[in-house]
Amino acid sequence: MSTQVTVRRRRPVLVTGGNGYVASWLVRRLLERGFDVHATVRDTGDPARTGHLGAVARRRPGRLSLFDADLLDAGGFDRAMAGCRIVFHTASPLIVRDVVDPEGDLVQPAVRGTRHVLEAANRTPSVRRVVLTSSIVAVYGDAADLEETGADRFDESHWNSTSNVRHQPYSYSKTLAERLAWEMAEGQDRWDLVAVNPGLVLGPGLGRNTSAEGVLIMRDLGNGYYRFGAPELEYAIVDVRDVAEGHLRAGLIPEARGRHILVSETLSLIEIASILRSHFGDGYPFPRQTVSKVVALMLAPRRRIPQAVARRNVGYPLRFDNRYARDALGVTFRPAAESIVDHFRQLLDDGLV
Ligand code: NAP
Repeated sequence: MSTQVTVRRRRPVLVTGGNGYVASWLVRRLLERGFDVHATVRDTGDPARTGHLGAVARRRPGRLSLFDADLLDAGGFDRAMAGCRIVFHTASPLIVRDVVDPEGDLVQPAVRGTRHVLEAANRTPSVRRVVLTSSIVAVYGDAADLEETGADRFDESHWNSTSNVRHQPYSYSKTLAERLAWEMAEGQDRWDLVAVNPGLVLGPGLGRNTSAEGVLIMRDLGNGYYRFGAPELEYAIVDVRDVAEGHLRAGLIPEARGRHILVSETLSLIEIASILRSHFGDGYPFPRQTVSKVVALMLAPRRRIPQAVARRNVGYPLRFDNRYARDALGVTFRPAAESIVDHFRQLLDDGLV
């Protein structure tokens, strides 16, 4: 996907959680475009988390500066935001399985973090636009919800109304955070808010911190967990490089408004497996068949997926309308096969499969 958007010489931009899987690609694209980037991370002194940003920043026209900031620290983002025109707020905890304390580990950092970042934007006169990294999980809670919408696919008018702190707490945290962001955007008139709502992000990472859920799915497929059959589950996939481009455009296109579903294609686990088999051969135990819903429900807890989640997602089609992002932001999405193959190859190279 090429960027046709032209930009004037500019103020720095802020990326929160700049070391993350998605944000690292965004930082790279911004630096390539000549932006000076302020990136917040939790610990600038931790090379395991920030070391890859050295390579991301090397020989780029823009300059990268790192700042320490925690989502739970009310005043933590002011210094990094000073002088910035665009704020990309990507930082949020992403834990889908084995959540120990949903309120403390997910909801509080996501919601309070969004409040803290937007309050900092209210205190920073240079800020004109905030791009929020939301998710499709703020659009829907479970695939079963689609039936209740009366539509044949989810679009930007839909909101997740079925998740709560016990059922799909990550989805709940993203929904509350996005709702709060729209509320706070309406409470002032200096900056405007643009939300991007990516699906399951796949594709190569620039650091070691590739998306936990994407990696788990790929490893389960490659390591033979589903060798005797996979549940009938669908994933709405988008490439990490396209998500970065979507953010960039959401930040730079003056007319950009509202939410943007970033999804390329929805594929079932079996379809993902068949793409992997056609590229990597029969040497890996990729599944060839689906298991019944009854078996899928029995096996779910072993994959640390609660039965209630399996019940409302296995066997239900998951469909998204990505037309608004394509029209309004001009994004073209890579085929999911490219993201899947590139991602799996990286896991092989890293010895994770
Ligand atoms: P990631 O690599 O885990 O990045 C998450 C970022 O948030 C990291 O920089 C992390 O910092 C930061 N963070 C978490 N808790 C924090 C806290 N208390 N204070 C400060 N920073 C904190 O995951 P990602 O996939 O890039 O996710 C980035 C954004 O995309 C998130 O908002 C996520 O909800 C959204 N998203 C992701 C996907 C996906 O499939 N990956 C799909 C849709 C939306 P540390 O490195 O210090 O932990």
